[in-house]
Amino acid sequence: MTLDAYKEDMMTCCRCSACKFVPLETLKGYDHVTVCPSIARFDYRAYSGGGRLGLGVALLENKIDYSSEKLRDVVYNCQMCGACDVSCKYAMDMEVLEPLSEIRAEMVKHENVPASLTKLAAALKQNGTMVLDAAAGRGEWAKDLAVKDYTREQTDIVFHAGCRTSSDPSLWNVARSSIKLMQKAGVDVGISFGEMCCGGRAYQMGFQSESAEQAKRYMAVLKKAGVKTLVTGCADCYYSFKVLYEKFGLKNDIEVLHTSEYFNNLIKEKKLLPTKPVDMTVTYHDPCHLGRQGEDYIHWKGSRVPGQVIIFDPPKEFRRGDKGIYNAPREVLLSIPGLKLREMDRHKEFAWCCGAGGGVRESNPEYARWTATERINEAACTEAEAIVSGCPGCESLFTDTIKQGSRNLKVYDIVELLAESVL
Ligand code: SF4
Ligand code: SF4
Repeated sequence: MTLDAYKEDMMTCCRCSACKFVPLETLKGYDHVTVCPSIARFDYRAYSGGGRLGLGVALLENKIDYSSEKLRDVVYNCQMCGACDVSCKYAMDMEVLEPLSEIRAEMVKHENVPASLTKLAAALKQNGTMVLDAAAGRGEWAKDLAVKDYTREQTDIVFHAGCRTSSDPSLWNVARSSIKLMQKAGVDVGISFGEMCCGGRAYQMGFQSESAEQAKRYMAVLKKAGVKTLVTGCADCYYSFKVLYEKFGLKNDIEVLHTSEYFNNLIKEKKLLPTKPVDMTVTYHDPCHLGRQGEDYIHWKGSRVPGQVIIFDPPKEFRRGDKGIYNAPREVLLSIPGLKLREMDRHKEFAWCCGAGGGVRESNPEYARWTATERINEAACTEAEAIVSGCPGCESLFTDTIKQGSRNLKVYDIVELLAESVL
């Protein structure tokens, strides 16, 4: 798509500011009412979903140009978390996040991107990963696990660890626990010891063609290996394989599951039995790309009926964020004896972002940590001992932020707690 294709959506914005807040009807109280980290941090309309749509129209009408430093600041101090999109669509039939993606794609074309992100895109092209400071090589995390390489021998299930997990030994326990749980359930699982990047983060940063090229390379490997089901514990990668690849027309019929979905099924089939108590009160953080952005991509080709703002031909079904992956992670946690789950005020499709997305952690680490601190403080209000997530990006940023702050909160992935109960 192009930015121009979303001009009518952008023109539909009525400046109501709903994209800054959790919808009134769903509020739990006076605290935690904002949903957009960017407007909450920078406190100027341009830094909201609606504000950026106004900039999109101004760019299309040549009222501002792409070379401005301030424009770059506004466009890239946004996690692409999609909370604005969901809050807007609570009442409106219009796209918000899609045009924000197209503005970023235009910024890439006009070479006005934070230098740190340009460096990451170059690394993807040269080394096949956007992780610059990898502390470990690909597949090292699985060396002693006796797991097959699916690129050499076919397996029923393929497990994708993701760049962040593979390169950071402090996250290895999640991937290793996933394999051990699958082996315990008798699953024929394989990994690739030369696993590639899915390309999803490049898309979020605006490098759309680089992302699509990487997706083609990855799909060629999966196709050659005859893969039918892919399981991943990374919410970003899950979104790439399930939603982006579908958008690119590349997904074919590969089934994509998050570890929480896959293990929830194994628990229901009694192939995994969580029996050991884990006496802990936790709160669950919905990762943006598993929750509100994790629902199926909908192909729609049509247009607004001329002269009408909200009538489409053919009728358009919108992705509103409420069909994301919310139940499986919670069901897995509640299947663990002794474990108690407390919800934060902002949860499911209205969850506050961890702060890491959209390249923000790399381009503005201070803003990323500020966003994470907001979430950690919200988690602490539940009086939980730990914050649990289903994404290494969230986990890693929460852990680093907690280390630098004063909150005494543990951080886990769902799979780690399940493994404690099962293995
Ligand atoms: S983007 Fe949507 S919610 Fe935000 S101001 Fe515009 S119409 Fe209102
Ligand atoms: S994507 Fe997230 S950070 Fe960006 S404008 Fe929307 S709500 Fe704010």
